[in-house]
Amino acid sequence: MLSSKEIIAKTDKLGAHNYHPKDVVICKAKGSIVTTPEGENYFDMLSAYSALNFGHCHPEIIQAAKDQLDKVTLTSRAFHNDLLCEFFEKLCELTGKNMILPMNTGAEAVETALKTARRWGNFIKKVPEGKQEIICCENNFHGRTISIISMSTDPTARAGYMPETPGFVIVPYGDAQAMENAINENTVAFIAEPIQGEAGIIVPPEGYLKKVREICTNKNILFIADEVQTGFARTGKMFACKHEDVEPDIYVLGKALGGGVMPVSAIAANSDILEVFEPGSHGSTFGGNPLACAVAIKAMEILVRDNYPQMAKEKGDYFMNALRTIKNDEIIDIRGKGLLVGVEFSVPAYEYVKKLIANGILAKETHERTIRFAPPITITYEEMDKALEGIRIALKK
Ligand SMILES: *Cc1c(COP(=O)(O)O)cnc(C)c1O
Repeated sequence: MLSSKEIIAKTDKLGAHNYHPKDVVICKAKGSIVTTPEGENYFDMLSAYSALNFGHCHPEIIQAAKDQLDKVTLTSRAFHNDLLCEFFEKLCELTGKNMILPMNTGAEAVETALKTARRWGNFIKKVPEGKQEIICCENNFHGRTISIISMSTDPTARAGYMPETPGFVIVPYGDAQAMENAINENTVAFIAEPIQGEAGIIVPPEGYLKKVREICTNKNILFIADEVQTGFARTGKMFACKHEDVEPDIYVLGKALGGGVMPVSAIAANSDILEVFEPGSHGSTFGGNPLACAVAIKAMEILVRDNYPQMAKEKGDYFMNALRTIKNDEIIDIRGKGLLVGVEFSVPAYEYVKKLIANGILAKETHERTIRFAPPITITYEEMDKALEGIRIALKK
């Protein structure tokens, strides 16, 4: 077997350098703990950016995948498969919407939401074709396609990729008035993350989601909530919009929907919106495949049965309170909801991340000065206490 060092060197030589991973190789994982080829263990406090809400290799989800592997894995949408209807039914129940459009990655689901909004604007709101505008927020992260980075304000995500997709208007996040001011007769939708993840766990001012929801209703524009990272219990509610009892017109979902096994994404909305699609107008070869359905159905069943929102809330409160006892005047803010927690420093966080890893904690800085802690929701209190020991040593001054 190759050593971690050899694996890293080979990966670095042969793979495009669009990532700069930390020097940890994972070859095995279970729950909240990952193992290197040398047999060292780490606590996973990132959970693949919330795709691992169920922890690594959740036994029931793995079993559902194994069972399905022996039956049928792919049909394409040229034919029906026997599990898609149950996937739709479960996701409708969770979201309170009555129609689903399945895709694979988060970015594809965001693209699907943008296409939905443009069509709805043209077909139903009667905005002239080519004039549709979508309002988005500064420092958003919605994925990596050309159209999605056209919404981005991050120079690193955009540089060299022009020309961009037109039709996006950018406003400050957390400012409902600025959003309202940006609306004109061609506006079809407003898209936002209920808590900005990649921007550094930015929780908007209380009442913001309610306010933008109201504005969208009054001005007849769609409110698209990108819950790819915040959805499925991560923040202590099934969806982060629920913290303000807000119902978006379109949920954009991904990451944890695949149970940490498969890329599974979808948008959920009501049929008066999703009926803008007719056969041939959108699709994906792998979207809604039976293997994806099998893991997602099991994942959604577990979320509800084991009350993951409650778990995330209680463990998140415990974890954040413990973090607050760390004495370090370079820590200027600790924020978040549930088990989506950001620790912001007055200095670049890079050195602290190195210390965390040296103390057995996998975490990563986002936007230079903030470290995101998002352990699997299944992490036990005992594991959290152990992880907190390492975090305390690494982050104290
Ligand atoms: C990760 C993420 C995406 C993109 O998902 P991919 O599966 O990486 O394409 C979109 N929106 C948000 C909020 C995300 O966190």
